[in-house]
Amino acid sequence: MAACQVSYDSPSLCTVSAPRLRPEIESLPSYKAGQMPAPRTDIRTYKISSNETPFEPPAMVREAIEAAARDVHRYPDPFNRRLTAALAQRFDVQPEQIALGTGSVAVVGQLLWAATGPGDSVVYPWRSFEAYPIWVQMTGARSIQVPLLPDERHDLPAMLEAIDDTTRVVFVCNPNNPTGEAVRRDELIAFLDAVPSDVIVVLDEAYREFINNEDVPDGLEFLQGRENVVVIRTFSKAYGLAGLRVGFAITSPHLAEGIRKTMIPFGVSSIAEAAAVAALQCEDELFARVGHLANERDRVWHALADQGWNIHPSHANFVWMRLGDRTEEFAAACEEAGITVRAFPGEGVRISVAEEEANDRVIEVGKRLSSVPR
Ligand SMILES: *Cc1c(COP(=O)(O)O)cnc(C)c1O
Repeated sequence: MAACQVSYDSPSLCTVSAPRLRPEIESLPSYKAGQMPAPRTDIRTYKISSNETPFEPPAMVREAIEAAARDVHRYPDPFNRRLTAALAQRFDVQPEQIALGTGSVAVVGQLLWAATGPGDSVVYPWRSFEAYPIWVQMTGARSIQVPLLPDERHDLPAMLEAIDDTTRVVFVCNPNNPTGEAVRRDELIAFLDAVPSDVIVVLDEAYREFINNEDVPDGLEFLQGRENVVVIRTFSKAYGLAGLRVGFAITSPHLAEGIRKTMIPFGVSSIAEAAAVAALQCEDELFARVGHLANERDRVWHALADQGWNIHPSHANFVWMRLGDRTEEFAAACEEAGITVRAFPGEGVRISVAEEEANDRVIEVGKRLSSVPR
C-alpha cells in the first residue's frame, strides 16, 4: 500500500492502526439514556421513564447542599466518614460494614471489579436491572441469565441450579427492576441457605422503602452469620437525590473493604455527602412522600388491572405492563399524551409513579387502548 490512512472500518489493511479498546468494551452497546419528553406547548409533559421521585428535596437538604457548596475548592473526605457514621447509626451496623459509591450502580460495579474477572461467571435473573450485564461484561466475566417466572418473580431454584464452580456473584433484585415483583422471605432464606458460602449474593434493594408487604424481607435481616450477603441501597429513589449520585452497600467488613478498594477516589462529592446526611435526618418527611407514592402506585395498578391488562403487583415506585407486541403502540400513545415511559421493545413498558396528573394520564391511556380491538 502506498499511502496509508487510519481506517476505522478495516484497520488491518493499513500499516497505521486505529487505537484499540478491549474487545469486551468494543462489543458493548452504547448507553441509551432515558428518553426526555419532546418539548410541547399544548400540555405539560412528564418524564416517567427513570423511576425518579417527582418531589424536590426538602428544605433541610437544599440548605445542606448550599452550605456544602462553599467548600467545593477542597477535596471531599475520601472516606466519607460523616455519611458512613450516619449510615452505621441509622442501620445499626458497624462503620466497617459500609461501603459507598457514586450511586448504587457504581457500588455494583465496584463489587464486580473486586470479585470477578475473566473465567468467572455471574448469575442473575432476566429481565432485570440493565446495569448487570454491562458491568459483568466490563469485568470480562460471563453472564448467566435465568429467565423470570411467568408471574414476573425470580426463579430462585433455577438460579441456584445455574450456579457452578465458576460463579462468583449472584444478584437478587428485590423488588425487581423493571417488573416490580419481589421475592418472599421463606424462599429467599431457602436460597441463601443453599448458595455456597464463597459465592457472593447481592440483594439489590434500590426500592426497599416502597415495599409495604410484610412477607418481602429486608435484606439486612440476613447479614447476621452470612458473610457472603451484600445489601445494596441508594439515595436516588426514596431519598430523592438521583442527581447527586450516592449509593451504599451494607455487608461483612471483608466485602465492604473490597468495595471500598475499588471505589473511584473522592467519588462521592462533599455536596452529595452533605445532602445524604441531611436526607437521613428528614426521613419522616421523605417517607411520608414514599407512602403517598406507594398509594398512587396501587391506584394505578388497580386501575390498569381492572381494565383487563395482564399486570402483576409492584413493590416499587413503578408499574410494569408486559405488553409484548403492543409495547411500542402503548409507549407511543403515552408519548402522545405527554408522558414518556420506558419501553422495552417487544416486552413491555415500565411506568414510574409520579405526579397525580401523570398517573391519571397513564390510566387514561390504558383505558383507551384496552378498548382498541386487536
Ligand atoms: C435505580 C436503581 C438503582 C440505583 O441506581 P443509582 O446508581 O443509585 O442511582 C440500583 N439498582 C436498581 C435495580 C435500580 O433500579
